[in-house]
Amino acid sequence: MRAWYAEHGRDLPWRQTRDPYAILVSEVMLQQTQVERVIPRYLAWLKQWPSAEALAAAPAAEVIRAWQGLGHNRRGLNLHRAAQRIAANGWPEDLTELPGVGPYTAAAVGNFALGRAVLPVDTNVMRVQERTGFDFSPAAAQGLMDLGATICLARIPRCSVCPLAADCPSRGRRYEPQRKQSRYEGSFRQRRARTLRLVAESEQPLRGLDHEAVASLARDGLVRLAPCGTKVTLP
Ligand code: SF4
Repeated sequence: MRAWYAEHGRDLPWRQTRDPYAILVSEVMLQQTQVERVIPRYLAWLKQWPSAEALAAAPAAEVIRAWQGLGHNRRGLNLHRAAQRIAANGWPEDLTELPGVGPYTAAAVGNFALGRAVLPVDTNVMRVQERTGFDFSPAAAQGLMDLGATICLARIPRCSVCPLAADCPSRGRRYEPQRKQSRYEGSFRQRRARTLRLVAESEQPLRGLDHEAVASLARDGLVRLAPCGTKVTLP
């Protein structure tokens, strides 16, 4: 497995650092966005805000604007709040105390940045674990992620080139297509994203906007109603 990773592991920019802030940025971006889309955004983000302190000092509106296009905008706002918490109090021992950081992200930052002996189990890692039944060590995390993303694929795994094939009880199996994600087109999520995009471009009159979407975005702290009550702005 180690030899396979050394030869086939993906060369990703967040693998060239052990800075917990940079790893946190990458993990939050990767939560629901594909690797190829994250790479340029991650590099631009770190250029703009190279540290938790720099991000903490930025206005929320700027952060929300910079997050546009990555989807699930609450992630950007939570990252900003996490940076403020880190800038004020340092990194907590329990990383899940940071806004937007769940057990998986905490394990990933713990392993990749802080050298903690914990295996971050994302969908790719879980799939390889389930199919092989093996007990993997935390040191195998990056390799497992790449194996799940490129070889042990969800439907038709490429067992003929898999380094674990010799001992894998699932070798050669095929899998039913998984349930499709609910449609984004026409969804409330799309309405929220469209509304936020408009407000991020410039302050908008409330009457021209989707009121339900505005209310939901305001509850998440992503937009706010100006004191006059008729205009919507970023926080
Ligand atoms: S042998 Fe096939 S099913 Fe088993 S881990 Fe490798 S790719 Fe996945």
